[in-house]
Amino acid sequence: MSEPLGAGVEEPEDRHGAFPRLGEDQRARLRALGEAIATKPGDVLWSEGDDSYDFFVVESGAVAIVRGYGSENLIVAVHGTHRFLGELSLMTGARAYLSAVVRDGGEVIRVPVAALRELVRDDEELGNIILRAFIARRAILIEAGAGYRIIGSRYSRDTQRLREFLARNRVPYQWLDLDEDEEADALVRALAIPPAETPVVLGAGEVLRNPSNAEVAAALGLGARGAPPPLCDLVIVGGGPAGLAAAVYGASEGLDTQAIEAVAFGGQASSSSRIENYLGFPSGISGSELAERAALQADKFGARLVVPAEATALRREDGHFAIDLADGGRVNGRCVIVATGARYRRIDVPELERFEGVGVYYAATATEAQGCSGDPVVVVGGGNSAGQAAMFLSAHAGSCRLLIRGGDLGKSMSHYLVDELARNPRVEVMTNAEVVALGGEHALESAVVRDSGQGTETEFEARAVFVFVGASPHTDWLGGEVAVDEHGFLLTGRDLQAEFTGAHAGERPLFLETSAPGIFAVGDVRSGSIKRVASAVGEGSMAVALVHQRLASI
Ligand SMILES: Cc1cc2nc3c(=O)[nH]c(=O)nc-3n(C[C@H](O)[C@H](O)[C@H](O)COP(=O)(O)OP(=O)(O)OC[C@H]3O[C@@H](n4cnc5c(N)ncnc54)[C@H](O)[C@@H]3O)c2cc1C
Repeated sequence: MSEPLGAGVEEPEDRHGAFPRLGEDQRARLRALGEAIATKPGDVLWSEGDDSYDFFVVESGAVAIVRGYGSENLIVAVHGTHRFLGELSLMTGARAYLSAVVRDGGEVIRVPVAALRELVRDDEELGNIILRAFIARRAILIEAGAGYRIIGSRYSRDTQRLREFLARNRVPYQWLDLDEDEEADALVRALAIPPAETPVVLGAGEVLRNPSNAEVAAALGLGARGAPPPLCDLVIVGGGPAGLAAAVYGASEGLDTQAIEAVAFGGQASSSSRIENYLGFPSGISGSELAERAALQADKFGARLVVPAEATALRREDGHFAIDLADGGRVNGRCVIVATGARYRRIDVPELERFEGVGVYYAATATEAQGCSGDPVVVVGGGNSAGQAAMFLSAHAGSCRLLIRGGDLGKSMSHYLVDELARNPRVEVMTNAEVVALGGEHALESAVVRDSGQGTETEFEARAVFVFVGASPHTDWLGGEVAVDEHGFLLTGRDLQAEFTGAHAGERPLFLETSAPGIFAVGDVRSGSIKRVASAVGEGSMAVALVHQRLASI
């Protein structure tokens, strides 16, 4: 007789509350919401690719969590007595990407997912235990790469795009490099996929050949499903910290709220490897984890979160606002909060585009760090984001040079970071320096740096150049419907000159309200905003009170 799947595998330790055991009283509360079911080895509780699955507590016996059940049979973990199964996808409604198969027979408690969601809302003690475990499990699965698989070349822009899309959406995945990994090559041959159709995304029973981000999102079941409501109280455009805060406050204060996001909830904050100055997190928190928690919170209060959904136009129609989406869809809202943030500026270097995504990057997350591990890298910029990137990358890269155009780092960077950089022997700060040329055949190999003080140019070996040189706002899609400042950032409240306030019929626009009554602007996209997570969150939450005020007057 063959051994059951996961024979001999030990249960994982309970790291950061990821795998707690529930007490008698807690299990009794769950039993009251569901049913007890006898299990035998080989029973499948849910399968990879299932649209949704239920919540299970192991009363006795053990259950294996498996990737590629029936083919790869990779054991991700085994859970025994009084532990519960599942992870974040149970709460977000995404498709299952692992299977749960009974290893040792016994009994499980099965709780329907709808009842679990109610429990998380109403039972503070159990809700906290379950949510904390799901968030910790997601982090462990991301670290282990135990979910989907992307097979593609490191030199392919689409590989980079897909890796970034999954990483920014906090989807666990493993990347198999077609250029380095024999397993990757064998796998695409076995699937009879020609090189022209790579990269491929494998998982949840699907093989997606060079899919668009929208196709991946649909296959994974990311974001809200089904048709949007015909009209809601509040549409939030942009899902960075400002938009997420507006979604949490809007939904929790009774507004019918919908947030649409072009790429991934979290915005720029997701590309920050560690935010150290956000209130309440003394040891720092990664931007993506902060975003994951916020999205979960917004979802818990009933906000509808749609991704990927890019707004392309806005107009007034029958007393409400209509927003067109890039995929041809549209959403309608009585009020709109614009939270579309800003995009990083490029540097003026010949052939920059050729290297974007394959050597030139505008974010420094674990994805990029993995791609340049042990290699020489260059970071360009004198602000906090450049300083943080240099600190983070120096732990992974072979060497790290931080280039600033001016002569004094302290002019544009927070003091704590200047001090940290000064103490870090792995970062070389170069002042009066700028990149003037990039070299390399398929990928980046070198960067030429001009020293404007000395008038000299030096070529350095560089596998990656990280650019953090300021930002311009995402406001083109508004098509001139609202007043902007000379750099394109949205003017609000008292900053609006009299000539822009006509639509307000003689009244001053509300604080954070744009020149169009009912359209608010928050976070980095707003003229005069402080470019910080905390201020974006503050503005997003304040705007909701003003939306209430505006709705009452319509
Ligand atoms: C690497 C890095 C490190 C940082 N570190 C810190 C830090 O330590 N502390 C700190 O306080 N701040 C930090 N910041 C700054 C902080 O992240 C930003 O100030 C903050 O994210 C702004 O939030 P936001 O919601 O206004 O905009 P964003 O975070 O820019 O979010 C805007 C969102 O809108 C979406 N969007 C844009 N156009 C459209 C459209 N047409 N339709 C739909 N969606 C759209 C974008 O995809 C994006 O997700 C850092 C930034 C970076 C890049």
